[in-house]
Amino acid sequence: MAVKMQLSGKEKASDALPLPLYLTNGVFFTLFFSVVYFLLLRWREKIRNSVPLHVVTLSEISAIVVFLASFIYLLGFFGISFVQSLILPRAPHDDEDDDILIDDLMLNEDSRTAPCAAAAPPTKIVAAPIEPLPEEDEEIVKSVVQGKIPSYALESKLGDCRRAASIRREALQRTTGKSLAGLPLEGFNYEAILGQCCEMPVGYVQIPVGIAGPLLLDGVEYSVPMATTEGCLVASTNRGCKAILASGGATSTVHRDGMTRAPVVRFGSAKRAAELKLFLEEPLNFETLSLVFNSSSRFGRLQKIKCAIAGKNLYIRFTCSTGDAMGMNMVSKGVQNVLDFLVSQFPDMDVLGISGNYCSDKKPAAVNWIEGRGKSVVCEAIIKEEVVTKVLKTNVAALVELNMLKNLTGSAMAGALGGFNAHASNIVSAVYIATGQDPAQNVESSHCITMMEAINGGKDLHVSVSMPSIEVGTVGGGTQLASQSACLNLLGVKGASKEVPGSNSRLLATIVAGSVLAGELSLMSAIAAGQLVKSHMKYNRSSKDVTKLST
Ligand code: ADP
Repeated sequence: MAVKMQLSGKEKASDALPLPLYLTNGVFFTLFFSVVYFLLLRWREKIRNSVPLHVVTLSEISAIVVFLASFIYLLGFFGISFVQSLILPRAPHDDEDDDILIDDLMLNEDSRTAPCAAAAPPTKIVAAPIEPLPEEDEEIVKSVVQGKIPSYALESKLGDCRRAASIRREALQRTTGKSLAGLPLEGFNYEAILGQCCEMPVGYVQIPVGIAGPLLLDGVEYSVPMATTEGCLVASTNRGCKAILASGGATSTVHRDGMTRAPVVRFGSAKRAAELKLFLEEPLNFETLSLVFNSSSRFGRLQKIKCAIAGKNLYIRFTCSTGDAMGMNMVSKGVQNVLDFLVSQFPDMDVLGISGNYCSDKKPAAVNWIEGRGKSVVCEAIIKEEVVTKVLKTNVAALVELNMLKNLTGSAMAGALGGFNAHASNIVSAVYIATGQDPAQNVESSHCITMMEAINGGKDLHVSVSMPSIEVGTVGGGTQLASQSACLNLLGVKGASKEVPGSNSRLLATIVAGSVLAGELSLMSAIAAGQLVKSHMKYNRSSKDVTKLST
């Protein structure tokens, strides 16, 4: 460990030597072998002349001293080198370039296991020192362990969220017999999550945030925060951003904006269920229902009602605008108002659940892919031929062909639902976690079809991503926590928009789509380049240097 600490900085042990390392080694090697040779000659002479070996001259004493000194030096040098090779991480080569990172990501497309991380040595987790519990807390821990105080009641009982977390954590360690060292407790505002973000906290998980960009989108440059532990993901997205920037930027449009909630109600007959459907779809009734719905919030505005009938059961999908909130709470409140109103009109209606899965939240569902949920965004860019060659290291024809065979045909063969892309969910998840979105909504938010087309006589590339269900907000939920709020601030979309309610969350949705566009470009290029090399190897082995063709 000591060796590691001394040698892991920028300085090397050899820096302390008066000569360069190779010269020092050379001097000691020469000395060592010279004195060994000299002593062996002397030894042979003594044996021949019958002189006892322990009778030594001054020159022999000097030779023995030099022998010992050089022996100790060489032993030390090779010993340290050997230990170093066992415990020190392999330093990255200075000349490691994007290609390797991108190729690693390519292999890692469908997996969360990071090849870069896998290659790194295991990091020793150093837990922040935790103060020993004060005596009065020790008593509370015992009561929690014995079940006299419920763990969930600690916050309300103590009125101090950090203290509650610390006591709960200690009680948990004692009851499970497992250590939580490595899961930090300090450095987090537990008051901020009370009653809205997380119950019964015992600490927090750290996720690194990397920056991809600048992403030039609709004339503005954004630095995109990505919280991820997947090696190469940020590097790859960054390369895509570089290609977009060098080509003059991307353009986006939010063409639909509405959060949905669909309760399920039941009647005694299918006929009655159908009567409610007709009532809800009657344009004359929409105004009344909107008034009822909208009275629940300053921002929630009913846009549409769509029904699906299954026998005696009716699924009513309400869509409403939600300002800068992602809007699940808001739409649920509005729907509850409408249901209360409907019961007075249809007293035989039985409300089975405020959510009947026709919404559809956090599950793959065609209704979101077709109808949209949250923000529906389309984002496009024209990538110039020289950028495809120089930055993305492939060519337009290869990209277009791969997109057709992989993202369109391959996904069709797989029976994909909204998954006509290379890795939209990688980028969506990382940006969602960084900016305090609900990462579980990654399921439908990652619905994306990536299109690629050769334009300008086949020279340049038109690339687009169409994402119908980006569910994001800049107020509410995790967005108000310090770290997530800082990331929103970096993008200039923190909190509620003062000018146009909803414009911050819509802008965030376009940034998500723009980042996905960058991620798609980069990964598809890495795959295309790899394929090109392989197919040239197979079908055109006579070509001189196939790697040159792909780079
Ligand atoms: P969600 O509906 O996404 O779960 P919340 O209900 O937690 O979000 O947060 C929305 C809250 O923020 C509501 O109480 C709403 O009145 C308030 N709010 C303030 N400004 C805005 C805004 N510009 N857009 C939407 N909601 C806003």
